[in-house]
Amino acid sequence: MGELTCLVIGGGYAGIHAVQAIRKSFKSEEDKRTVRLILMDKNPYHLRKVLLFRPAVGDEDITVPLTDLFPEGVELIQGAVTYIESTEKNLRYEDAAGAEHRMNYDILVVALGSVLRQPEPWQGGMALASIDHARKIREAWRANLKKAVGETNVHERKKLMSIAVAGAGISGIETSAELAHYVREDAEALGLDPGEAKITLFNANPRLFPEGPAKVGVRLEDSLHSNGVTLSHGSKVVQEELGTLTLSSGETISVGMCIWTLGLLPHPLLQSIGLPVDSEGYVVIDASYRVQGTQGIYSIGDCARVVDPVSGRVDGKTCKEAIAQAARLGKVILADITGRSAPTHKGFMDFFCFGLGPGIGMAWTHKWGVDIIFTGRLGSKLRKFTWDSASLIK
Ligand SMILES: Cc1cc2nc3c(=O)[nH]c(=O)nc-3n(C[C@H](O)[C@H](O)[C@H](O)COP(=O)(O)OP(=O)(O)OC[C@H]3O[C@@H](n4cnc5c(N)ncnc54)[C@H](O)[C@@H]3O)c2cc1C
Repeated sequence: MGELTCLVIGGGYAGIHAVQAIRKSFKSEEDKRTVRLILMDKNPYHLRKVLLFRPAVGDEDITVPLTDLFPEGVELIQGAVTYIESTEKNLRYEDAAGAEHRMNYDILVVALGSVLRQPEPWQGGMALASIDHARKIREAWRANLKKAVGETNVHERKKLMSIAVAGAGISGIETSAELAHYVREDAEALGLDPGEAKITLFNANPRLFPEGPAKVGVRLEDSLHSNGVTLSHGSKVVQEELGTLTLSSGETISVGMCIWTLGLLPHPLLQSIGLPVDSEGYVVIDASYRVQGTQGIYSIGDCARVVDPVSGRVDGKTCKEAIAQAARLGKVILADITGRSAPTHKGFMDFFCFGLGPGIGMAWTHKWGVDIIFTGRLGSKLRKFTWDSASLIK
């Protein structure tokens, strides 16, 4: 049999783990067939998306060059996919210089992920939606602190030193916890009273972490409080304009800046890429990640609607789910090629990790009917381990 071209599009968490799993599956196959494995991403790096809050508080690089992750055995192409001609098994993409290309594949894995939801322009504030956004956020709060140094009006100074974080999902929790630490540290270095810095996390829900038990939400809240974050539950931010924050209740609050952490949306390109999508915009797949109505195309991660065929439960849009899907996909592809029966999707166990400031973390899992919560050093180690292993960092 001739060489198979297996193309993975998207070098996020799903894509890099899919490359690893496919390579492993074909290595373990006895009648080894040659596979040309290609990973294509619009960037030359893997973005450690879960650490997006880091460049908002410091100058950490949260990218990993794809050449470091796959120094050999995988062809890397920097290109932005524009269209999939599934009948012809062709893919159209633009290279970094904007030139258009076409390429053939035998097997295609679509792992284009999601995009971050942004507020409408009239809503003001700054969204934590990319590395550039994160850097601008850091510049903005540091500029406010510098202004605060010369401000003698206490009300104005406190306003300059206050930050609203709107949206209390994992990203909002982690961002506010890190800000509380670094804003105070910088304030002190500038000779300001760190106690005047105020970070408020606005939560539209009545409590934190609605995905899990109330007691975990309470533990998270306690940790945020002791870190210096103020919580405002049942508060939806509507707009930030010229330092005035308006809540859905009509209440207004003075702030130095507002950071939006509004969660994820399906990649808009999926609407026009040539694959079937559901009413929410996610790629439609079967229980073994095969894209409906196509041959040789699979989709996993944030861009697909992944459902457990036994429980009917829809997978969450998180790294751990994407990574487990990728591991199974390696076996599915090999089974499909060799005419064996392919494994089907199984939902991932409940497991969530939270970074709660430098060196502080918490993890929660639910096993055998029991809630298990890790805090302190273990929680922090688990958090770091999950961040690193998700990006194939040893
Ligand atoms: C701030 C934040 C915090 C989060 N925290 C957590 C957490 O604590 N735990 C957790 O489990 N999950 C967390 N998540 C969710 C997690 O990041 C996603 O579930 C995960 O990134 C999904 O992986 P993916 O590979 O499907 O998509 P992505 O990571 O989005 O990767 C998609 C890839 O496709 C590439 N791409 C996009 N368009 C094109 C194109 N046209 N052509 C070629 N390539 C393209 C992108 O460059 C990217 O590399 C968080 C997300 C955010 C934003």
